[in-house]
Amino acid sequence: MKLATFSAPGDPLARVGVVDATGTRLHDLAAVVPDMLTLIDGGAAALDQVRAALPTAPQYALRDVTLLAPIPRPRKNIICLGLNYAAHAYESARARGRPEVLPEHPVFFTKSVSSVNHPNAIIPVHSGVTEQLDWEVELAFIIGTPGSAVDPAQAMDYVFGYTVLNDISARDLQTRHQQFYRSKSLNGSAPMGPWIVTADEIPDPHALRLQLRLNGATMQDSTTADMIFTISQIIATLAQGGVVEPGDIISTGTPSGVGMGMQPPRWLQAGDVLEAEIGQIGVLRNTVG
Ligand code: MG
Repeated sequence: MKLATFSAPGDPLARVGVVDATGTRLHDLAAVVPDMLTLIDGGAAALDQVRAALPTAPQYALRDVTLLAPIPRPRKNIICLGLNYAAHAYESARARGRPEVLPEHPVFFTKSVSSVNHPNAIIPVHSGVTEQLDWEVELAFIIGTPGSAVDPAQAMDYVFGYTVLNDISARDLQTRHQQFYRSKSLNGSAPMGPWIVTADEIPDPHALRLQLRLNGATMQDSTTADMIFTISQIIATLAQGGVVEPGDIISTGTPSGVGMGMQPPRWLQAGDVLEAEIGQIGVLRNTVG
């Protein structure tokens, strides 16, 4: 299922909905489940309830609703992977004049919960704060089952579903503050969506094309097959002496083709339109303003 959080025409309240197979209509599940985190917490039984309610649920044309981030306010920071595609690790090293080496272990950082942004929403340009705002299309997955000391062979059982995340990054702040948190947590810098596709519909998340278009021009075009650390390895690593918990959002890193890697670098400016697209999920579109 494609699970969306949305607001209906004339009502700002966030609701959960299911986008139908045609991609043009949305079933309103407000009477069945109050929000996405409650649905995720409910596990398979809650998903069964949603499926059972679909035939009689009120419907809207998708174009008439406002899509919101699937999890508008996560319980924890979004966990992100840095340098998880070789070509991107190399372009980042070149741009910073550092040696071109690949990480031996996953590089983790987080984005604040307050950085979450919505499909079709404005990404603030933050003039006066940063002059080097950049894009990063990423496959993000959402944890559905609590786990610690997870066997990598069973790790995929912990995934609830997948979405698209654009890891908007202020490169000058990344350099200035040395750690990633500040540069990755500006308001509006974590657009995600347009919905969560449940894990049963994506049997191989390492066979997805991911692309980013800037004003219609393709800047990033790669495949999730090229990740250095797989989703199983990421989950197993986080759950070693730690936990993964329902509702955790984990973003798997970006391929090459970011603005920082261009000659000269291309920084985002007001009016730019970003489309982050991942096969079997959809297109996340935002405007910089
Ligand atoms: Mg990233």
